[in-house]
Amino acid sequence: MSQGEDLIKRAPPDQLQPWFARATALPPGRAAIIGGGIAGASTAHALRRRGWQTTIIDRRKELAQEASGNPTGVLMPRLTAAPNLDGRFYAAAWRFVLRTLVDIGMQLDAGGVLQLATDAAEAARQNMVAADAALPPAMLRQMDAAAASDIAGCALPFGALHFPQGGAIDPRAYCAALAQGSDVLFGVDVARLRHDGRWQVIDAAGEVRTEVDIVVLANALGAASLPQTAWLPLAARRGALTLAPPTPASAALRAVLAYGGYMTPARGGVHSIGATFDWISAHELNAPPVVRGDDHARNLADLAHVLPGLMAGVEPRALAGRAALRCTTADHMPVVGPVPDEGAYRSDFAELRHGHPWARYPGARYVPGLYVLTGLGARGLVSAPLAAEILAAHVTGESWPVENDLTTALHPGRFLVRELKRGI
Ligand SMILES: Cc1cc2nc3c(=O)[nH]c(=O)nc-3n(C[C@H](O)[C@H](O)[C@H](O)COP(=O)(O)OP(=O)(O)OC[C@H]3O[C@@H](n4cnc5c(N)ncnc54)[C@H](O)[C@@H]3O)c2cc1C
Repeated sequence: MSQGEDLIKRAPPDQLQPWFARATALPPGRAAIIGGGIAGASTAHALRRRGWQTTIIDRRKELAQEASGNPTGVLMPRLTAAPNLDGRFYAAAWRFVLRTLVDIGMQLDAGGVLQLATDAAEAARQNMVAADAALPPAMLRQMDAAAASDIAGCALPFGALHFPQGGAIDPRAYCAALAQGSDVLFGVDVARLRHDGRWQVIDAAGEVRTEVDIVVLANALGAASLPQTAWLPLAARRGALTLAPPTPASAALRAVLAYGGYMTPARGGVHSIGATFDWISAHELNAPPVVRGDDHARNLADLAHVLPGLMAGVEPRALAGRAALRCTTADHMPVVGPVPDEGAYRSDFAELRHGHPWARYPGARYVPGLYVLTGLGARGLVSAPLAAEILAAHVTGESWPVENDLTTALHPGRFLVRELKRGI
């Protein structure tokens, strides 16, 4: 541990380090939210509940046309064996998304999610997760293969963790429910943002499309194309989902199965089986993602590796599917909060690598009225509502709904602070 990290660690637990100081609290006004996926829709929901007038702006013609536009998504918690930041955030996000679904009147298909203990290592991890009690027994049950088979409706050779409240959701309907009451501007590719007391949102033709008090960048990888946030280290990971008709062995399935990948019960005559997770090259970033030759074969092979009989005989080349890009970060945490003024951070905190006492630094300076919610990775349908609630608390100055250390683990300034500590 460097001297700097040691000093940072010894900051009083309830006091925020200066580089994560709170942004100026704002009264309700007009907000433009760039991006109409689950990040943007959740942000609109959180701000509207606090009296803000919200406009969702998207380059596509409807909500949820990119990563949030799959025909099916799975909602389940991500629990870690050790109570680290990652595990605590996703456990809190899980509790919060369940409350959000009640608020917006959405129900998941019954049956829940069975996370299968597919090998000895996963069984040992599940024992630790169950013993850690991050979730109450009504939300998490550990069971043997016979009990898991009863719930699944088909024979399973593995024990499992059962999440009774989890299940499959229609992501487009979910986004639409969250966006209800917001104005929308579709077909607008936001190219620039200009601040002159208020924010002007400017399209690719140079036309000012709206003027607002605050802007929230909820546009996934697109945030890195705007100058104010170009320094965010966001990365694209391509994913493809396979849609397959049921076989005699799979037709009775009534719970979502998770095994690294996932398979949903057949709905409208199709199972959703997913999802691939691939690095992509820079030139692919500009082309719409498409399903590739071996995507379905890989999704079926991952399933067959644990449950060989379920989709036996299905010909991958005959299947349909959908591909999209996930927006990820190296630390696997979303990016949520006020946008740092990059130049001010680099000068105010330039000495971080020397480990001066943290209390000697000035408070962080932000781009006024500019916020970001991105980097939702592979779990955005679960984490977006809590991330949006945290973002709304950054805007209004309310208490954060999670502990300070979780909020700062999501803070956009963390990437600059890490660079400054390394002397980059
Ligand atoms: C194959 C696959 C399967 C998945 N399965 C699951 C799952 O089962 N469960 C789960 O929780 N998560 C799942 N995920 C992850 C989840 O889909 C994402 O985390 C989530 O959808 C990200 O939401 P978002 O709103 O940040 O991004 P997006 O949904 O991509 O939304 C960003 C929006 O911003 C718009 N935009 C970008 N730039 C601009 C601009 N300059 N101007 C105007 N608009 C702009 C885009 O048009 C887009 O609508 C999956 C992802 C993939 C790819």
